[in-house]
Amino acid sequence: MRAIAVDIGGTSTKIALVDEFGAVERFTRVPTEPPLDQFMEALAEPIGLLASGDRGVRGVGVAIAGFIDEAHSMMTYNPNIPWLEMQPLQADLQRRFRLPVRLEVDSNAAALGEYRFGSGTGAKRLLCLTIGTGIGGGFVAHGELLRITEQCIGDVGHVIVQPGGRLCTCGGYGCAEAVATAGAILEKAGVTTLKDVADPALFREAGRYVGLLAASLGAIFFPDRIVIGGGVNSASSELMAGAREEFEKSAGSEVKKRARLIPTNLGARAPLIGAACSII
Ligand SMILES: [Zn+2]
Repeated sequence: MRAIAVDIGGTSTKIALVDEFGAVERFTRVPTEPPLDQFMEALAEPIGLLASGDRGVRGVGVAIAGFIDEAHSMMTYNPNIPWLEMQPLQADLQRRFRLPVRLEVDSNAAALGEYRFGSGTGAKRLLCLTIGTGIGGGFVAHGELLRITEQCIGDVGHVIVQPGGRLCTCGGYGCAEAVATAGAILEKAGVTTLKDVADPALFREAGRYVGLLAASLGAIFFPDRIVIGGGVNSASSELMAGAREEFEKSAGSEVKKRARLIPTNLGARAPLIGAACSII
């Protein structure tokens, strides 16, 4: 039994086949670029190849960056990819491939993937934070995703971790997303890609803000496990080191007593695997 998994991010879209044990095969990617018609065609080609033949494909699970509607049919808000907002992605893909299609918020999909097959296995209350271009969060309690607003737990990247800090895209100042993401690190380093960042202290500093975010969210959700993933985490182990340091320093004793803070072991595959979990 398999599902086709699609992970639509701000810059690239990953496509793969995922089986019921969480194994990822036939991975490919296309750029997330307008116009919409061309993007849908670029997406349809690899999906069509995976759907053809006898691979036991049960449907298509789509993880997407942004808020989604209640019917899991379209992305409703993401200022980084406005041309994909309010587009009937589910209906379009269903019509093309005659397979069930379900959309999920990418941070929820990552949390689900980690819970079923990754660093979140066995957790009762799992908080998963994804640190990349933005910061996403998903929470799984007793096997179910918590959906407080817009199908998510909220927009956790905009919890303020540095009073009076850097201006955020949301209009606030000092949000985790403004100070601990790839953009903030690249700006300070004066380079354009994370692998060119020479000073590990920049990752450590970002990590400390992630630790503050984890400590603050820990007081609300009381997780027994907090999993940190995303591109910034993959780029340097200093992120995790900084996060642990600050979490130990700042989190309340009850929060610390309950939660273990650990890195993802699925890495970039987490949203793909979680998207597939919503189908199989
Ligand atoms: Zn913000």
